[in-house]
Order: sequence, then C-alpha cells, then structure tokens
Amino acid sequence: MKIMRLQSVLPMGVLAGLLILERSARERAERALAELKSNLERQIADHAAELATANAQLREINYLQAKFITDAAHELRSPLNSLKLRLHLLENGKPERHAHYIAELKTQLERLAQLSEDLLNIARLEAGGATNHFAPVDLNTVVDQVVIAYRPLAEAAGLNLTFAGAPDLGPVMGQRSQLMQVGSNLVGNAIRYTPTGEVQVITTLAADRKQVCMVVQDSGIGIAADDLPHLFDRFYRGQQPEGTSISGTGLGLSIVKEIVDLHGGTIEVQSTVGAGSMFKVCLPLAPATAGV
Ligand code: ADP
Repeated sequence: MKIMRLQSVLPMGVLAGLLILERSARERAERALAELKSNLERQIADHAAELATANAQLREINYLQAKFITDAAHELRSPLNSLKLRLHLLENGKPERHAHYIAELKTQLERLAQLSEDLLNIARLEAGGATNHFAPVDLNTVVDQVVIAYRPLAEAAGLNLTFAGAPDLGPVMGQRSQLMQVGSNLVGNAIRYTPTGEVQVITTLAADRKQVCMVVQDSGIGIAADDLPHLFDRFYRGQQPEGTSISGTGLGLSIVKEIVDLHGGTIEVQSTVGAGSMFKVCLPLAPATAGV
C-alpha cells in the first residue's frame, strides 16, 4: 500500500533507489540480529561451561573435605584405642609391667598431641590461607631460630645439627610463623629419620637471584623411590627399614607443601635409601630486592 502510494508521487528511479535502500537496511538489521543471537548463544554456552567446571570443583572440594574428616577420625581412633587398651592393662595387668604400660601410654599421648597439633595447623591454613598478612621475612633468622629450638633434640639423639646461612639473602614475602613451621617440620623430620650422623641446614640465593632457598640435608634412612610421589599427600607415611618404627602422623610434609604453595615457592626432594635425604624449599624474594 505504502509503495503504491509512493509510486503515484515519486519518479520510478527514486522509488527503485528507495527500495534498494530499504532492502539493504533490512539485510543489515537481519545480519546484526543473527550476530547478536550467535554472540548470546556463545556467551550462554561459555557460562554453562564455567558453571559446570565450578560445580565439578565444588564436588571435588566436598569429596576431599569428607575424605579428610574420615582419614582424621581414623587416625585419631588408633591412638585412642591404644590408650584404652593400655589403661585396661594398667588396671588389670601385672604390677611389674606397670612401668612398661605407662611408657606406652606416654607414647600414644604424644602421638595424639602431635596429631591434634597437625590437624589444627591444617585448619588454620585452610581458614586463614590468604596472603594478606605477608610481610618481608629474613629466612636466615627463621632458620636460625628453628635450629636453636631443635638443637637439644638433635643432641639427645647424638646427631650433629649445623646451619650455614648465606650472607645478604634479602627478605622473602611471607608469614614468619608459617615459614617457621616449614623449617620445623623439615628439620624435625630430618632428626627423626636419621639414626646416626648429621643434619645440615643451609640457605642459598638461587642462581637467577630471584629466589632464596633453604636446604635440609640428612644422613638418615632415606626414602624409597615409590614413596617419593606420595610424600606430600595428607596422612601418607613412607616405608621404614625392618625393625624400625619411627612414629608420625603423615601430615608434616603436606603442611609444608601447602605453606610453600601459599608463598609461591617450590619444594624438591632427593633421597637415597640408606644414605639420606635432601629437601630444598625455594621462595621468591620480596619484589623490591629481587635481582634483575
Ligand atoms: P610423618 O613423618 O609424620 O610420617 P610427614 O608428612 O612429615 O609425616 O612425612 C611423610 C613421610 O615422608 C614420612 O612418613 C617418611 O616416610 C618420609 N620422610 C619425610 N622426611 C623424611 C626424611 N628426612 N628422611 C626419611 N624419610 C622422610
């Protein structure tokens, strides 16, 4: 109708021009609409994929949390059962065995205390793992304090514990208490798993001068090759030589790894069964001091 009316007032050339204009405008609009539709569809598909990934991650976290609680309950049950048994024996066993039962009670109590300490440390890390309390920390001071704290234990075990700190290390960005925990767990392990010889701790500046490293080397029992891939798993305990029973929770190295990850660092292990182990933790230098 509109065109017919225009036909009567406009020359044919102008009318044809108008028709072409109208068709190309409609085609442009249709193309824009199609593009918008495909953009929207792509965005919806992207969001759906993101949601599916987040959902899978949440399910994985839920699964890991449930597994952690089950494993922790299981680990708590074993020293508790041992305590119950020792108490029963203490009440009903021969009096000449009392000293023996009391010694075993103490061992199990220590195991429980260590377990609850490790579990608390994990809970603290999970709750306050953010890096907002980070400040420049001097690794030499941290390691020095750890070595001083562990010297009596090393001496009691007849081990030579030494520390050689590299001069002018420069600070790392981190949380002092967490870095103390890393040092304590590594030095504590080195002492526990070393029957004779020495534990040496050194700090070094990495070759690229952007990281500082702490190396804990012992002359202990070493770690079997098939244990190495699992050392940092929670509750994982490695093999020990026949006749050895060094107690532990299997949590110390998982805590170390978690803290090192939080600090953007790395940890590596080298070990030879029967000869000793070397744990090396490297942490990035605080930005202002990192070399270029
Ligand atoms: P725990 O020592 O309580 O078992 P960790 O998580 O600290 O737990 O260590 C996991 C395992 O790694 C230990 O059970 C042990 O087999 C092995 N391990 C750790 N440090 C050493 C070491 N310095 N020498 C030998 N084995 C070690």
